[in-house]
Amino acid sequence: MNSERRVSREPFYMGFDFCYPWGDEFIVELATPTCPYRCTFCAIHIPNSGKREADELSNDILPQIRFAIDYCKRFKSRNIFRINLSLAGSLLDTNSVDPESLMLAIDHIGEHTDIKWLNFETRAELLTGDRYDEICDRAESANLNVIPAVGYETRSSRVRNDLLHKFLPDEVFEQMVTTVSRRHRALKPLCLIKPWEAAVDEWRQEAFDTVAYLARLQAETGVEMEVHVAPTYVAPETPLYKQFQQGKYHVVRERDFLETLRSFRGLDVRVWVCPHSETRAVPHGDMVQTCARPDIYMTLMHEFNMTNDYGIIDGYLAMLPALEAEARALRNPAGDDPFRQVPNAPCA
Ligand code: SF4
Repeated sequence: MNSERRVSREPFYMGFDFCYPWGDEFIVELATPTCPYRCTFCAIHIPNSGKREADELSNDILPQIRFAIDYCKRFKSRNIFRINLSLAGSLLDTNSVDPESLMLAIDHIGEHTDIKWLNFETRAELLTGDRYDEICDRAESANLNVIPAVGYETRSSRVRNDLLHKFLPDEVFEQMVTTVSRRHRALKPLCLIKPWEAAVDEWRQEAFDTVAYLARLQAETGVEMEVHVAPTYVAPETPLYKQFQQGKYHVVRERDFLETLRSFRGLDVRVWVCPHSETRAVPHGDMVQTCARPDIYMTLMHEFNMTNDYGIIDGYLAMLPALEAEARALRNPAGDDPFRQVPNAPCA
């Protein structure tokens, strides 16, 4: 394997590489065989990181973990406290990951770092009691806490299953939360904002209902939720992309996303914003940013993630008209609206 390709570049959010720091977390995008599901929005057919060759894919994740941990040591000054294992599938899918190499990876992280938290991505039905116990026991021996990250996507069963093809019934998700609660652990549900074409009021209400439901589950089960919300982006060669090409799907706009985020104030649950598409979106397929300073957006979202202070969102929304005016002047002195809904573009 060519280790040069594993070297992350900064600013890390501008590129998409194998492993990189994100604030005080360290993200590892494992190159494994991909998920057998085909959710309509998912770029899963693009093996992580979209720049990896097919012959690099392996369900033995230990060599990748070894490399990532060595690389992570360069970022000692960031006080990295959590490692996030991401992949084009599920860490508990034996087609994607060799269970033994997962256990050895946990040992390696425990032995070679001071990191105390480990996130891993999986589907809900694969997190059975036995497997969760096995992973928790191994992590405890390695002095690590584990947090499963599970794609829940959205509250409406019709949208989640009929439109997005997630094939995740509510009962399965809730059973998994019960499994996690047995060991009084934490959970990272992954949720999409505007996952289907709908009127603004409709998808915003759906997003609110999703986060409110997770807050209620947290209160009922004691499982500490860190709800990850992400504006849906259009990935190439997906059913969503076809809709986008036909002009039937329009991406979320920044202001609507922020207003939606603001509506979560008062829900007693921690919210985490995933602010970018990790370069997987087709041209114009990512959230429409209407200001000239995406760096301000990134900084403020990072601060919001650290604090969950909704005053940050209020402040950014108050600044937005001035930032948009600045962007208009910079990008289009002739005065046309550069933020009109962008015509659907062919895939690069
Ligand atoms: S969203 Fe998850 S379950 Fe669906 S295809 Fe992508 S990785 Fe598989």
